[in-house]
Amino acid sequence: MLKRRLFTPGPVPVPDRVRLAMAQPIINHRAADFLPVFRECRTKLQQVFQTKSPVVILSGSGTVAMEAAVSNVLSPGDEALVIRGGKFGERWAEICEAFGIQVTCIDVEWGKAVDPAAVAKALDQNPAIKAVYIQASETSTATRHPVKEVAEIVRRRDDCLMVVDAITAVGVYNVPMDAWGLDIVVSGSQKAFMLPPGLAFIAMSDRAQKFTKTAKCPRYYVDIAKEIKTLDKDQTAYTPAVSLLMGLAEALKIMVDEIGLEATWARTEKIAYVTREAMKSIGLKMLSEAPSPACTGVYLPDGIGADLRKYLIQVLGFTMADGQDQLKGKVLRIAHLGYFDGYDTITVIAAIEHALKAKGYNFKVGEATRCATELLSE
Ligand SMILES: *Cc1c(COP(=O)(O)O)cnc(C)c1O
Repeated sequence: MLKRRLFTPGPVPVPDRVRLAMAQPIINHRAADFLPVFRECRTKLQQVFQTKSPVVILSGSGTVAMEAAVSNVLSPGDEALVIRGGKFGERWAEICEAFGIQVTCIDVEWGKAVDPAAVAKALDQNPAIKAVYIQASETSTATRHPVKEVAEIVRRRDDCLMVVDAITAVGVYNVPMDAWGLDIVVSGSQKAFMLPPGLAFIAMSDRAQKFTKTAKCPRYYVDIAKEIKTLDKDQTAYTPAVSLLMGLAEALKIMVDEIGLEATWARTEKIAYVTREAMKSIGLKMLSEAPSPACTGVYLPDGIGADLRKYLIQVLGFTMADGQDQLKGKVLRIAHLGYFDGYDTITVIAAIEHALKAKGYNFKVGEATRCATELLSE
């Protein structure tokens, strides 16, 4: 028997209760029984995003919300600033370029967080910048950017939007949209929300909603102003992913009502900390200098990286994320966000030890698991 265990920072495992909710008979999205499901989703999402602004639910992966965060607020020829410290920062720049936006990038070495002073300098040098695009958690490098500090700088200007890809931050740690003055925050279902891929979320401040009125980038299906208009009627502009919404209502009940947001952040933070310490205890180095609790990136011992990941998947049944581009085969990224607890974490740490031993790494077998057990029980 090979039991498969998923430890990627999206998609993540889905709780049984959520899977059962999605197995219910399909209801019509214009029928009366759909309305309370949708209302539950949109109001609880506002709690999770910590905002009074509307949170629009789109059908698609997280990237559709990233695209909307460009196409709905800017016009071709507009200037934007992108914090580019990994694959997802690159994605912001690529989306902007696809819509004819003039992009200035702050390139951040992979594994490091952006220096807020660099953002201040770039904004001072270029008053035409209309939006700043950043990741709260840059999943490709397991790094957390200082969103609060960057937002304070952007907020000195009234004519510039602070746009945050919080796809692996919302529901992972505290990113209060309204309190920090964020204009657009996006996330996706297959991350902390414990759902399959297929839903994207985008919250828009009043300031961002004003930008939609003058934004001339072409758009039809993904029209956030149109979606916001239908929200109050507990409707979407087009047919929504009904089954995923039934799952979302259940997942939000677990996250918000039963566990609570603060307890969710604390659990995630704790298992991330335990994982980092366990990996360090057997001599492995961290990928990030400013680690995000969404996932932990560790460098694998020279020469055995690609083999080790293959062994974990094929022999032990553990799927974790590889590094991307220059990090391919060199690192392992272990997920903490969503439906994981301390004992899932001990299990994955034990499996990594098993694989390291099988691949000939010289260390005291059991040390990382011991370290994790000790820290968990503190
Ligand atoms: C997962 C993820 C995305 C979205 O990717 P999709 O494949 O479109 O869902 C975007 N940004 C970050 C930081 C992510 O982790």
